[in-house]
Amino acid sequence: MIKDNLEKIKATISEDVALVAVSKTKPIADLQEAYDAGQRIFGENKIQEMADKFEALPKDIQWHMIGHLQRNKVKYMAHFVDLIHGVDSFKTLKEIDKQAKKHNRIIHCLLQAKIAKEDSKFGLSFDAIEEIITSEELATLQNISIVGFMGMATFTDNQKQLEAEFKSLKQFFDRQKEKTASTNCALNILSMGMSGDYPLAIKNGSNMIRVGSAIFGSRNYIA
Ligand SMILES: *Cc1c(COP(=O)(O)O)cnc(C)c1O
Repeated sequence: MIKDNLEKIKATISEDVALVAVSKTKPIADLQEAYDAGQRIFGENKIQEMADKFEALPKDIQWHMIGHLQRNKVKYMAHFVDLIHGVDSFKTLKEIDKQAKKHNRIIHCLLQAKIAKEDSKFGLSFDAIEEIITSEELATLQNISIVGFMGMATFTDNQKQLEAEFKSLKQFFDRQKEKTASTNCALNILSMGMSGDYPLAIKNGSNMIRVGSAIFGSRNYIA
């Protein structure tokens, strides 16, 4: 089932779009099944759960943290995490830098932009993002690299609204991409789109999608 789901999704997306299999709340056996079907990028939203799964599964998996970050837990994933999607403050970037340094690594990060018209979603305003990526202090964080942005659209069926939200982030991304030239900021990744909206996200410029339920089936609770 998982294998079929993966194949169906992959058949509809171009090779330029990275597929993050969002495996939060799912058992190791499900991740192993996806792995056996060729999947190598997994996304989790809880640091402890991701660390447990990292221990249990093959080491050529790339682990993406897609959830809201608790700063005091960054240390538990600093030795293995490949990409952190949900960075929404300079303070968090500093903590990631500090923990990455201990392991002599450079951790790639995406800044999370608030594009949804809902209060419940985290993220930075475009102005706040611009402030971070143009700040002089950023250059002092030598163990992180900002490689793009992440956005979560409003939970709605309104295609026009979704499209407008994706487009706004894509336009902002393109503008910043040209402007920013810093050693630890090179914008290449635009992470937008989940099970319900990824075709529309890709159509509007996403090159990394985070898909959970369409691969693993629905979750028992809202995570
Ligand atoms: C859970 C989650 C997803 C995946 O959601 P699905 O609707 O199951 O595809 C994507 N992104 C984030 C940030 C999530 O928390």
